[in-house]
Amino acid sequence: MKLGGESVKDCLFCKIADGDIPSEIIYEDVKVVAFKDVDPQAPVHVLVIPKDHIESVDDITSENSYLIAHIFEVINKLAKDLELDKGYRVVNNCKGHGGQTVNHIHFHLLGGRQLQWPPG
Ligand code: 5GP
Ligand code: ZN
Repeated sequence: MKLGGESVKDCLFCKIADGDIPSEIIYEDVKVVAFKDVDPQAPVHVLVIPKDHIESVDDITSENSYLIAHIFEVINKLAKDLELDKGYRVVNNCKGHGGQTVNHIHFHLLGGRQLQWPPG
């Protein structure tokens, strides 16, 4: 069930949210879905997305920002469930220079090892 936003044809993450492409979903509610990244970069690597299609951080508005706030509440809960008590990283890549490869906004939850900084 979605909030009323349309799925975008040919969007990989809309298809995952709709269940049309299988993924290892670890959390779902009416607004968001969280699933394991297919190419994990850490022992825990989860992607959290809104079910409604928002392309990137560049497209956050006063109308849809409640979904982003909710995503961070879910990340907080998942981090506790996944016992990431030593810490973790939340990453968003925005558009080309940011390294975004899937144009449906998503937040990477990475943890389970010491992460390095700065990024490349
Ligand atoms: P980005 O580079 O856009 O920030 O992140 C996209 C992420 O989606 C990458 O970490 C990539 O491994 C992941 N990804 C791409 N295709 C799939 C897929 O079909 N299933 C899952 N679970 N993850 C995917
Ligand atoms: Zn989408």
